[in-house]
Amino acid sequence: MTTTSEPHTGATPPEAPDHPPTRQQPGAGSAITTARSQLATAVEILGYDDGLHEMLGTPRREINVSVPLRRDDGKIELFHGFRVQHNVSRGPGKGGLRYHPSVDVDEVRALAMWMTWKCAIVDLPYGGAKGGVSIDPTGYSQAELERVTRRYTSEIMPVIGPERDIMAPDMGTNEQTMAWVMDTYSVNQGYTIPAVVTGKPIPVGGSLGRATATSSGVVHTTKAALADAGVELRDVSVAVQGFGKVGSHAAAIFAGEGARVVAVSDQHGGVHDPDGLDIRSLFEHVDATGSVVGFERGEPIDNTSLLALDVDVLVPAAVEGVLDEITADAVQARWVVEGANGPTTAGGDRILAKKGVTVVPDVLANAGGVVVSYFEWVQANQAYWWTAQEIGEKLELRMLSAYADVAALARREELSLRDAALVIGVKRVAEAHQIRGLYP
Ligand code: GLU
Repeated sequence: MTTTSEPHTGATPPEAPDHPPTRQQPGAGSAITTARSQLATAVEILGYDDGLHEMLGTPRREINVSVPLRRDDGKIELFHGFRVQHNVSRGPGKGGLRYHPSVDVDEVRALAMWMTWKCAIVDLPYGGAKGGVSIDPTGYSQAELERVTRRYTSEIMPVIGPERDIMAPDMGTNEQTMAWVMDTYSVNQGYTIPAVVTGKPIPVGGSLGRATATSSGVVHTTKAALADAGVELRDVSVAVQGFGKVGSHAAAIFAGEGARVVAVSDQHGGVHDPDGLDIRSLFEHVDATGSVVGFERGEPIDNTSLLALDVDVLVPAAVEGVLDEITADAVQARWVVEGANGPTTAGGDRILAKKGVTVVPDVLANAGGVVVSYFEWVQANQAYWWTAQEIGEKLELRMLSAYADVAALARREELSLRDAALVIGVKRVAEAHQIRGLYP
């Protein structure tokens, strides 16, 4: 185990330049620039000094491990693994584990920082953390992914645990990955410790409702934002970028609640039908072919054109940085609801604001996943399981009350929903830090 020598400081001035206005590769390294710029804005609104700003922007602990894999054919390949605990002032680190070839320490730092604010905004007793391994999971067998997961887990074992840092699925990982993490950790501790991860399979202590929680939260916050403008879900059209864990269930729930889902996409491309897609048949097509591409009851559309569709609600639910100065300028939607983490760059945000688009930010809109992760952790700690109905009701309550707090502050102080959400999250973390005091 090695630690990275110099964690980057978060003290980026508010006017720090964004990445240049060129089209970005999905996942390419602007996430940390975006995250720091968002923090700088919140710090400026809150009037905090440079010392507090630097403390809030700097990861508390980072670990950087190499993850060697013996492939099924006997060859060895090496991946880079990270776990960043951005802040633990309000409780243990909490956040997903991402498998993607573009994962690097800066991306994980950004994602960990967003987890800190997200957990605080929905008032969970957690800090923020994130992990990643620089692997493309689609190119490896299940047995290889199991070995990578177990090796990564054992390398970061000293810093995780149900009271230290709790993992969950993120891009490229799933409930099976969490079962391997939980098993590796438990076997090494000598007894079963379900609360070390969330997003587990139900038979080993997973929670009912966790698999669709992020998507449900996206729909709850969309409905709340629409209601503020006197609009109902059944009167709107929706385009969803990303048909993974978040986008696919969000599309299904939107359609189930009467919205017209006119376009969806995945990394291979998308489908569009202005009259509304039949999401149930689309799921069958994806089950059979592995992609939304080629779905016959719709026209093909590419990912960039999807962002520019004439729809009411746009839900970017794929990767970071897709709405930059150029793509944001083409957005026609009146609401952007961020299912993904960091889909809008700081420059993209400014353009959307200028156009009068209401952005429900990631740290609020996609917080449903970590909310039900928290419920799963509470259930594991109590060894007592709640019903799906209890979980659904508690999730809705938590999402709507967080939305109400954010929207009220935004109205009162004339802030965007993003700035209001970050001000609430950053302030809660800073308060916890200040009340605890600086040791020694
Ligand atoms: N990966 C999800 C997120 O970005 C869930 C994290 C969790 O449940 O801990 O919010």
